[in-house]
Amino acid sequence: MGVQWVYPEFEVIRNDTRCTRCQVCVRQCANEVHRYEKEFNIMLSDESRCVNCQRCVSLCPTRALKIVKSNCELRENANWNQDTVREIYRQAESGGVLLSSMGNPKPYPVYWDKILINASQVTNPSIDPLREPMETKVFLGKKPSRLERDENGRLKCELAPRIELSMPVMFSAMSYGSISYNAHLSLARAASELGICYNTGEGGLHQDFYPYGANTIVQVASGRFGVHKNYLEAGAAIEIKMGQGAKPGIGGHLPGTKVGPDVSRTRMIPEGSDAISPAPHHDIYSIEDLRQLVYSLKEATEYRKPVIVKVAAVHNIAAIASGIARSGADIIAIDGFRGGTGAAPTRIRDSVGIPIELALAAVDQRLRDEGIRNHVSLIAGGSIRSSSDIVKAIALGADACYIATAAVLALGCHLCRTCQSGKCNWGIATQRSDLVKRLNPDTGARRLVNLITAWNREIKELMGGMGIHSIEALRGNRLMLRGIGLNSRELSVLGIAHAGE
Ligand code: SF4
Ligand code: SF4
Repeated sequence: MGVQWVYPEFEVIRNDTRCTRCQVCVRQCANEVHRYEKEFNIMLSDESRCVNCQRCVSLCPTRALKIVKSNCELRENANWNQDTVREIYRQAESGGVLLSSMGNPKPYPVYWDKILINASQVTNPSIDPLREPMETKVFLGKKPSRLERDENGRLKCELAPRIELSMPVMFSAMSYGSISYNAHLSLARAASELGICYNTGEGGLHQDFYPYGANTIVQVASGRFGVHKNYLEAGAAIEIKMGQGAKPGIGGHLPGTKVGPDVSRTRMIPEGSDAISPAPHHDIYSIEDLRQLVYSLKEATEYRKPVIVKVAAVHNIAAIASGIARSGADIIAIDGFRGGTGAAPTRIRDSVGIPIELALAAVDQRLRDEGIRNHVSLIAGGSIRSSSDIVKAIALGADACYIATAAVLALGCHLCRTCQSGKCNWGIATQRSDLVKRLNPDTGARRLVNLITAWNREIKELMGGMGIHSIEALRGNRLMLRGIGLNSRELSVLGIAHAGE
């Protein structure tokens, strides 16, 4: 074994008087941290392998285990912090690009936490959501600019294809391959029960999930994995993935070790081969090219499916969205720089893109200024953490929100941020059959339904408090928001006043 340059990041604390040597921890840890020495009847730990996923802690029947951050650190240095030094050691050893997963964990401002929601008092009555109807149903797609009548004076009622959601939430793209079969099944079942949608990501649609098509968004990404006519026909909408918040400007990489027989069949690639999706779509270099793909997909599905274009939130997102709205797309999904991922280069995840709050406000305003807001619906994603984040996003201009990290947390994820290893101890970001079966899809679906149902109740309460009884009346209603602790530039981009104004 080579020199261990720094003390492990986490320590395993085992209370020896509580430990019964049952070895649950040995069996539960895919990283092989725990070991039992029969000769001496002792438990040992190789802490350098621990990723702090908390699986052993949660399952230890006598609560004998704790994982804590090690306090054995290098000498304090505000410039060269511990993580930076550890990363340099790792790269000096491997010569490779640093890989990470889940969302950007750096301490950038979280604007959701600097925005406050209004409530009715005295002059405008609040609404009691337990006694009065509250409408959380939303329709995503193009909306007509005005009412039109035919030559007989009858209202023209034919609308462009839309997605109908019982509440303004959807499960964001997570591909089969990056997450397990059971995780996908949990999402599909929950979406179907809730009357919302989940998203295939770029991994194709497993044959078992076709019955959930009415609640499925099928994605077309640069690698075109698993894309064929039946796949396009299967979904409620088609999403063209141009970019992703966690890794704007680059493609994807699913290592061959995760491409088993089932993933290989679904993606239509050889078993064991790396699934590398290129950074750009090789047929898209302009809005006109994008328009061709949008209309090819519409043509292939006889104009019955709305087309979503998903982009990462980047500096000139407002101009990009304006172009997309003119490309014929029905919906734009914007993914902020805190969005999760199964694997991304650490430097890209942590340094590229902009927060969804600013991107969303800028896009909504630009589309309004240009008089084309009704040409598209907007979906906001990239770290939506609660029902109040959703309410704030809708008041900033979103029609609905995508959630992914919150959904995998509901499935049991403990945010260890090592999905790229394929050894997810919670059975989510893995294809190892012994780990996949740890996630029971019945339990997973129930927990997701519980989470979204609870959020929907909270959304109704928040709307009622504002005296608003439909999502439609909340959308883009920035008067309902105030900033706290923000400078005038930030308030101006968000288009909201400061608290007290
Ligand atoms: S990796 Fe997870 S299961 Fe293994 S020792 Fe660390 S916390 Fe426990
Ligand atoms: S999905 Fe699994 S591997 Fe990824 S962060 Fe969550 S617990 Fe860790």
